This record gives sequence, C-alpha cells and structure tokens, in this order.
Amino acid sequence: MEWKDGARCVVCLTFDFDADTSWRNIMRRNNIERDNPVVLSIGEYAPRAAVPRILKLLKSHELRAGFFVPGEVADRFPDSVKEIHSADHELGHHGYSHTNPARSTLSEEKEELERGSDALAKISGVKPAGYRAPAADMSPHTYSLLVEHGLLYNSTMMNDDLPYIVEVEGKRIVELPIRWMLDDWVHFGFNMFPSLAYQSGISSQEKVFEIWSAEFEAVYEEGLYFMLTMHPQIMGVPSRSKMLDRLIQLMKSKGDVWIATPKEVAEYWLQHGEE
Ligand SMILES: [Zn+2]
Repeated sequence: MEWKDGARCVVCLTFDFDADTSWRNIMRRNNIERDNPVVLSIGEYAPRAAVPRILKLLKSHELRAGFFVPGEVADRFPDSVKEIHSADHELGHHGYSHTNPARSTLSEEKEELERGSDALAKISGVKPAGYRAPAADMSPHTYSLLVEHGLLYNSTMMNDDLPYIVEVEGKRIVELPIRWMLDDWVHFGFNMFPSLAYQSGISSQEKVFEIWSAEFEAVYEEGLYFMLTMHPQIMGVPSRSKMLDRLIQLMKSKGDVWIATPKEVAEYWLQHGEE
C-alpha cells in the first residue's frame, strides 16, 4: 500500500468523547433507575480535566486527531466541543445519547443519527463525515442509514488490517476498522459499580505501552494502518497521557509515518485504496 507522500504507514489517533452518556446507558442496562452521581462523575471528568490535557498534548506535537462525540455531549458541554473543533480536530458522529444501535428500533436509530448530526453541525457548521457506533455495536440497518445520511466512513467493524470500501445500495462507504486490543477501555476501564460492568482491571501503562508499541512496530513493518481508539475519561489522566506522549514520540521518530484524521484517511482510501 502506497500511503500519502510516500509514508510507510498511517496512524489515526481517535477519542470517543462519551462523557457521562455511556455510564447512563450502562446503568439503564443494569436496571438501575436513578442516575448515580458518582458514576456519572467518572464521565464528567472528560470535559472538566481530560479533554484540556489531551488537547494540550496534541498541540505540543502539532497533531490533528478525530473526536467521536455523541450529540448530547455537544449540547451539554458545548465549550469543550467547540474547543476541540477550533483546534482543527475532526468531529465524528457517535450517536446522540450513546444508545447502542443494536438494541434500538429502526426509527430510534434514525432519530439518534439525525439528532447527533444536527448537534455537531451546530458547533462546527458542517455535518460530520464519519461515524463510530456507540458501544462499538451496529444493527443490520446501520450501513444503509449511514449512506442515506451521506456519511463518508464508518469506524466500527473489526475485520481487517486496512480500510476497505463497502457497497451499500449502490453507494460507497469507507470502513476504517478498529480492534479491541487498540482500545484503552479494554485495558484500563474500571468501576466499582454497577458491579457487572467494567471491572476488567487497571493495567499498568508499561503493559499497555508494550502492547500498543509492538503492534505499531508490526504495522509499520508491514506498511498498514494503525487506528487507536481512546476515551478522554480513560486516557486523559496524567500518567496515561504521558504514556500516549511516549507512543507519539515513537511514531514520530520513524520520520515516515503519516498521522492523519480518520476523515483524511477515508478520503485517501476512496481515491487510492484499490490501486
Ligand atoms: Zn462511546
């Protein structure tokens, strides 16, 4: 694969800015009727402390990233989302209320898609070009709804090392696959409550750096694509941000790694992907 300007591989740094929306969904799924303020506060950490730290880190490296933002987060924390947009990062679609599309009816999924697009357009003036399904889960209708709404790419499937094109009802949409191994929640996600959810543990930064950097080195060697999925509330704490800083330094030290927004990669793939 020939990447832009002769780069050996491409890297996308992406952040799913769920704030407290995902926690609210987790509570509902565990039949907890009333919102628990402490559980929600874990998500509120994102706009209060984590996003500013992450933006500072990206700025220090002069890098642009992709932020997948539920519309509700844009409505409730507009200053935070505006700050992301004005730093020239990409705003991607991540539903409206972070409701899992696989657990939604067709009309609910449609409404989430429309409201989510409108909320982001209120901040940036344009509808988002890309989508990542909340909870990394899609319904049988998701692809057709995405092409119907004119989205350029989806970033949810886990079936390839490279982007690929999906033909849906005569239209083309780029898939930018992800994988659990390159998702910070899997390694660091933890909460005491609800007891069944997210007790995978708190990994050491060293262990995760080892996993991510080894994968990056292998991707670099094979000339592929490296899509990192992070969450501000997880990755934006001081010590993990430092680990991300180290990972970025490693990527930059190669001198021929293209670090791009997902939209840039999708556009490039549409043009050159099958060459
Ligand atoms: Zn999410």
